[in-house]
Amino acid sequence: MIQHFTLRLVQSLMLAPTVRHFAFERVDGEPLQFQPGQFIQIHFSYPDGKPTKRSYSIATLPIAALGSISRIEIAVSFVPGGAASDLLEHLMVGDTVAASGPYGRFVLFNQDRNRRYLLVATGTGITPYRAMLTHLEAMMQQRELEVVLLYGARNPEELLYDKEFAAFAREHPGFRFVPCLSRQMRSCPGPDERRGYVQAVLPEFDPNPEGDIVYLCGNPNMVDATFATLKEAGFPVAHLRREKYVSAR
Ligand SMILES: Cc1cc2nc3c(=O)[nH]c(=O)nc-3n(C[C@H](O)[C@H](O)[C@H](O)COP(=O)(O)OP(=O)(O)OC[C@H]3O[C@@H](n4cnc5c(N)ncnc54)[C@H](O)[C@@H]3O)c2cc1C
Repeated sequence: MIQHFTLRLVQSLMLAPTVRHFAFERVDGEPLQFQPGQFIQIHFSYPDGKPTKRSYSIATLPIAALGSISRIEIAVSFVPGGAASDLLEHLMVGDTVAASGPYGRFVLFNQDRNRRYLLVATGTGITPYRAMLTHLEAMMQQRELEVVLLYGARNPEELLYDKEFAAFAREHPGFRFVPCLSRQMRSCPGPDERRGYVQAVLPEFDPNPEGDIVYLCGNPNMVDATFATLKEAGFPVAHLRREKYVSAR
């Protein structure tokens, strides 16, 4: 059920040169019931007083696969001249913002019977997958399931939460974390690091409409191009799940 609430900033840190991680708590002290993959909306006004809102995927790694969280975490990529970017860039610990949620159907489904999930992200599009890790772990314990996470960024500094995903991959043999770097590789690239855009790396994993379900999140151009390629390759639309980070305008 969608709720409206006020969030208080309790912690924040820079994850990358233009991306900040925010941890909020509800002022009313209530937890938020959500499904990993869903997003919240932040409500505010333009300088002329006109109300507006922006969407942000919930990045919180919940303790249980499904349930409620007391901390609502998001990662925001600041856009020059952006209205929400300006608001959030200047938010201090203790400040409050109006919000609502949770929204969206970009979630995992327990009834899926696929052999593998291919999770594809660019930029802050990685955040819903962070929230999904506990659910994925439970699914991998329940049935035979592989997960490959392909994550596109320009350089190593722009990879968000990469140490967490790498640690999860080390602890879960069924999970692979594949950073795809388009401009600059690490000086000592790991065995699963690739050069190039996620779209270009994806064919290496031989996407198969018979056994795979694909999630696409982040840059709208990446999501549209990958969706079109996979649909052409015979994937049913129901097995191509998308969240496009389109601008509000
Ligand atoms: C479902 C959903 C989930 C989202 N989740 C996230 C998230 O987790 N993290 C996150 O950072 N964003 C996320 N977004 C995008 C976010 O909602 C805003 O669009 C973004 O923060 C820019 O808002 P703004 O008010 O700062 O910029 P605006 O005032 O909306 O735009 C200012 C200018 O910047 C341009 N612009 C807007 N976005 C971008 C961009 N990404 N790159 C380059 N130029 C841009 C606009 O075209 C405009 O010219 C999500 C969007 C959707 C629809």
